[in-house]
Amino acid sequence: MKKQINIIGGGASGLFAAAIARQQGAEVTLFEQKSSPGRKLKITGKGRCNITNMAPLSEFLEHFNQRGRFLRHAFNMFFNEDLIQYFEAIKIPVIIERGERVFPASQSAKALTETLIQHVASSGVQIKTQARVNRLIIEDNIIKGIQCQDDHKFYAADAHIISTGGKSYPLTGSSGDGYKMVSRFGHTITPLFPSLVPLETVESIPKELSQLLLKNIRVQAIIDGKSLKPEFGELQFTDSGLSGATILTLSRLLIPALNDQKTIMIDIDLKPALDHKALDKRLLRELSENANKRFITILRNLLPKDLISLCIKQVQIDPEKTGMNITAEERRKLKLWLKSLRFNISKGRSWSEAIVTAGGVDTREISPKTMESKLIKQLYFAGEIIDVDGDTGGFNLQAAFSTAYLAAISASQNE
Ligand SMILES: Cc1cc2nc3c(=O)[nH]c(=O)nc-3n(C[C@H](O)[C@H](O)[C@H](O)COP(=O)(O)OP(=O)(O)OC[C@H]3O[C@@H](n4cnc5c(N)ncnc54)[C@H](O)[C@@H]3O)c2cc1C
Repeated sequence: MKKQINIIGGGASGLFAAAIARQQGAEVTLFEQKSSPGRKLKITGKGRCNITNMAPLSEFLEHFNQRGRFLRHAFNMFFNEDLIQYFEAIKIPVIIERGERVFPASQSAKALTETLIQHVASSGVQIKTQARVNRLIIEDNIIKGIQCQDDHKFYAADAHIISTGGKSYPLTGSSGDGYKMVSRFGHTITPLFPSLVPLETVESIPKELSQLLLKNIRVQAIIDGKSLKPEFGELQFTDSGLSGATILTLSRLLIPALNDQKTIMIDIDLKPALDHKALDKRLLRELSENANKRFITILRNLLPKDLISLCIKQVQIDPEKTGMNITAEERRKLKLWLKSLRFNISKGRSWSEAIVTAGGVDTREISPKTMESKLIKQLYFAGEIIDVDGDTGGFNLQAAFSTAYLAAISASQNE
């Protein structure tokens, strides 16, 4: 007999689980509380959807928190090459960009999501929208069905996959419902906090800097005077502080430190390719070649124009001074500023701006071989609801797709 599977939540992992379970021959119903599935998937990767990363498995796992090893089996079952093959088979060709990041060739998260939804619907999955599941019906530690908030009906099934996501970007539907539903039946939810999130600075950010994007820089976080491993890449100024890939990555470690009342400073090296000696040589050359030009004009050769007034204010060099009149001490100050522009961090931004949720259903209570709950039989987990979160770069979506694949294969099997 065909297995009946209910899937709770139609995001990246729920949609994918639905497609795989259907492929396995199961009768599948997908419950999504919003008026359409895949809302978050549609806005991923700045509208381009970074679906995965081509890093090899050992390196891939390093991009997750300590619980990353929980994903090893799921990745062994279904990894980046498999995902690409799957998408290409449903006519979503991909391209690989810098940093091994994989995007749909259409460069459109919306188009990818719509194609995936179409594929799921046409494969015979019943998609119920505006169907907010608010209760799991469990008897003798076996899940028997679910109940929806609006119609209070009982929807029975042989197996259930819970893929309600986390708490980040709640407008897309990830309201944290899944945590409440499963914790009622004994699952532990590890502390939740927004991750991959912009940071606010103590110093106010000058208007001209807001939205300035710095590329190819080195960013280091200093917690209570102790420096962390530096990140290289992009940093973006915002109205209230700092964002961009380097900052989002660092936020995973900095938010818990902020919660512990630690002092955090961000140190930006604007010239990482030059050491102090080489930069000094470069400054000497710049000043002598422009001996009669004003300092403010010379800075244009060294900095994005929006950073010039901050530089002048902080190094306290007269902007009208000509290159030949800049003293050795002033040159030293400028060099130190270029190598170490510092901001103090006051807090992280809220859930509404976090790319992922850190924390979630304790991985010790889920079988890594099947994604089945160790507490409730025939209940499987997929996606961000699980306590694993990764860096930016396609890691989180691959985790959502791989856990969905494994949950769907396991749930579809007859006992
Ligand atoms: C702005 C942004 C950009 C991102 N870009 C990338 C990227 O480029 N690459 C990458 O790897 N990751 C990216 N991520 C992270 C990635 O989108 C998530 O990790 C991924 O979507 C998680 O998938 P999920 O299915 O677990 O949860 P979600 O996609 O959040 O889906 C959960 C679904 O469950 C539904 N739901 C919740 N509760 C209920 C309920 N009670 N009843 C019924 N339905 C319910 C929700 O409405 C939602 O549709 C990005 C995230 C954000 C916010």
